[in-house]
Amino acid sequence: MAFGLFKDGEELFDSALEEIKRKEYDKAQKTLNKALDKNTKNADIARVYIAFISVGNDLNSPGAYDGLKNRLEGLKQDSFQFGLATFDTEMLKKECACMSACISARNMSDSSAKGNALMEAARNLMAAIGNNNLRINEYYTGNAITGTRMATGLMAEANEILADDIFESDPQKAAEYQQQAYNFRRQNGESGEANLRKMQQYSKACTCWICGRQVVGEGLHFFLMSANPSPQQVEKDKGEIQHSISESRDLYVCRACYTAISRRADAIANGYYDKALDQMRAGDAALQAQILAMDARITRLQTQISFMRN
Ligand SMILES: [Zn+2]
Repeated sequence: MAFGLFKDGEELFDSALEEIKRKEYDKAQKTLNKALDKNTKNADIARVYIAFISVGNDLNSPGAYDGLKNRLEGLKQDSFQFGLATFDTEMLKKECACMSACISARNMSDSSAKGNALMEAARNLMAAIGNNNLRINEYYTGNAITGTRMATGLMAEANEILADDIFESDPQKAAEYQQQAYNFRRQNGESGEANLRKMQQYSKACTCWICGRQVVGEGLHFFLMSANPSPQQVEKDKGEIQHSISESRDLYVCRACYTAISRRADAIANGYYDKALDQMRAGDAALQAQILAMDARITRLQTQISFMRN
C-alpha cells in the first residue's frame, strides 16, 4: 500500500485482535472504535469486543453486562474468539443477564427486597448456567466458579439477609432462615459457624429476672445484666426450664426492663451531673467576688503606701 500510514477498517480490526491477545485492552478498545469509524466489515464483533472489555474494566457493573448482552444480540455467529478463548454466544448472553441481575440485587438497600431478589437471581443462575463455569469471571480473574456454586453462595447470603431483617419481629422465623443459610454454606464447603451461632442466639429463651416474662432471642429481645445473685437464688434458678440467671451469674433481663432501667439510670446520672455543674458555677461566682474584693483592697493599700512615701 502506497500510503501505509493510514490503516483501513480491516487492518485496524486486525491490530485490535493482536492487542487483545497481548491483553492491551484499553488500546484495543480505541483501535476497535477507529475500525468502526472506518466502517470495518467486522462491525458486529468489534462492538461485542468493546463491550466485553468494558465488562472486564468493572466486573461489578450491571450496566456493563447489559451492554455486552445487547451487543451479543446483534451478533450473527454461534461462537466467537476473544484473545485465546472461545465463547458460546447464547451461553454468554445468559451469563450476562444472570450477572447483571445478581449485582443489581446485591446493590439493593431494602433488606427484604434484596433477599428475595438474590434468591431469584440465584435460581436463574442455577437454571441457566448450572455446572458450567462463569466464563467472563474466569477469563478476567482466572478463578473458575460454576453457576451452581455461585448460586449456592447467593442463596446463603439471601437467607442471612432475610434472617437479619425479620429477627426483630420473629426470631423463630429468623432461625429458620439461618438454618437454610447454614445448609447452603455447608454445600459450598464452608463451616457455617456464624449461622449456627446466630441460630443459637435467635432461639435462646429466658425468663426476665425483673418482670418474669418469657422472651426469645438473645441480643435483641433480652440482654445480660451484671448482678450478684445469692447462691440460694442461683440454685433455685437451676430448676427452671427458662433461666433467669446465666452461667456467669448475670441476670437475663427483657428488652423492656433493660431499656427502662438504663434510661432511668441515665436520667438520674444526668440530674447529678447538672446539679454538680450548678454547684461548681456557684462556687466559681463566690470565688470571683472574693478575688475582686481582694483586688480592691490591694489597690487601696498601694495608694496608701505611695501617699506615705510622698
Ligand atoms: Zn422484663
